[in-house]
Amino acid sequence: MLPDFHNHTCFSGDSSQDIRELLDHAVELGMPSICITDHQDFDYVEDGVSFTIDPVKYYETLKNFQKEYAGRLDLRIGVETGLGKEFASRLADFTRLVPFDFIIGSIHVVSGIDPYYDIYWEGKSAKQAISQYFEASVEALETCHDFDIFGHIDYGVRYCKEPGFVYNPLDYIDYLDALLKKLLSLGKGIELNTGGLYKGANHTNPHPAIIKRYRELGGEIITLGSDDHQAKYLGYAFDQAQDLLKDCGFKYYCTFKDRKAEFHKF
Ligand SMILES: [Zn+2]
Ligand SMILES: [Zn+2]
Repeated sequence: MLPDFHNHTCFSGDSSQDIRELLDHAVELGMPSICITDHQDFDYVEDGVSFTIDPVKYYETLKNFQKEYAGRLDLRIGVETGLGKEFASRLADFTRLVPFDFIIGSIHVVSGIDPYYDIYWEGKSAKQAISQYFEASVEALETCHDFDIFGHIDYGVRYCKEPGFVYNPLDYIDYLDALLKKLLSLGKGIELNTGGLYKGANHTNPHPAIIKRYRELGGEIITLGSDDHQAKYLGYAFDQAQDLLKDCGFKYYCTFKDRKAEFHKF
């Protein structure tokens, strides 16, 4: 089973996952390594739940697990941070507090609202709402550079409520090309996130067409992540994900250590 580099535990405001249970499950599945990437979202509060971590406590806790599991599982210490043009300097400061192995940068909020909520979709067409999500993603990259890979590129689409709406990434190709080219110029990668598949979506995030486009543009840095908040979803649909990456022309997938990409042949 390929390494899962997007996992949440009880350090995330939206997960109660026991760390040991997750690590034991990774050992059972035969994963050589995994990376825990709990949430750090600046200014993001959901029903009174905070999405910030105490980085020192988090790092020390995971460091102890890393030592305990050495020889059985290579635990990497990561974080998933919210990106936003207004957070750039706070993000830069945060990422220097402890020596993370890996940082996912994600857009969870557009103009203060998570597309997870119905209110995000009200008063606009699905196409407008999705365009705004991509526009915010491109804008964030103007100033936010302290991350390694861009998380679940079309995450917002997962929560589209418009009846009968069919999502076609090519309808947003100008935004997507701008996003992918900017990531390439910054030396950043993307992830293949399977989290939507166990939430009823019929495609990964990003959609396979975007993964293919990233490869066509010369993109090589790609990690795999289930975005699990419960151990049962660890490595979810990774066989399918592996086939998809090969179909898109990838010969390697990546893991990260000390913020540097490691390339592994399929
Ligand atoms: Zn996320
Ligand atoms: Zn996540």
